[in-house]
Amino acid sequence: MKVILLGPPGAGKGTQAVRIAEVLKVTRAASGDLFRENLSKGTELGKLAQTYMSRGILVPDDVTIGMVNAWINAKEQAGGFVLDGFPRNLHQAEAFEKQLDGKGGLDKALYINVSKDELVRRLSGRLTCRNCQTPYHISISPPKEEGECDRCGGEVYQRADDKPEVVETRIRVYLSETSPLVDFYREAGLLAEVNGEGTIEEVGDALIAEIT
Ligand code: AMP
Repeated sequence: MKVILLGPPGAGKGTQAVRIAEVLKVTRAASGDLFRENLSKGTELGKLAQTYMSRGILVPDDVTIGMVNAWINAKEQAGGFVLDGFPRNLHQAEAFEKQLDGKGGLDKALYINVSKDELVRRLSGRLTCRNCQTPYHISISPPKEEGECDRCGGEVYQRADDKPEVVETRIRVYLSETSPLVDFYREAGLLAEVNGEGTIEEVGDALIAEIT
């Protein structure tokens, strides 16, 4: 099964992708994590991506599509996958459709819907593990030990693009460039919409009900 997670930054896509991948027994990636991995390895692609990510705007399509296609075509993904954060605009969605043509196409676009006020609140306090990318929240769900990941002991930090001044831009970019994909996948008959304002478990149950 091949599934994408759609929704604004802060909707909980990363958290839910972990559970969905476990349930479907498929691999998972987030395009943002692929960029951050490149950055921590010091690759040219990572350095280029960082100049866009730090401003909260999209990395150019040719770079993004090339990187994600390489991931999709790797043998680990032959049994299906969950992809979070891609596609992010109509051009990427069309390239993605072409890429999956010979692979049976996409099975489901899961859309996690969250109001703008709630997003600002979540993103402004978001913390992330530098090692395994597990998300935390400064007041809603902090790590047990300050600065240390419960799962892997890695360093918990605030992503540069989770600082309040960049959060607004990311939400604006989402509304203008990414939100049209909701209609794109609805028209393709692939969209399943879930209310993202319940507990992590409630939202996860609703998503899993759409794919099982
Ligand atoms: P995320 O971790 O999904 O919030 O992504 C962090 C940043 O990575 C975004 O603000 C963009 O700069 C970049 N990025 C992630 N996915 C994409 C994509 N599909 N297209 C373009 N840029 C992306």
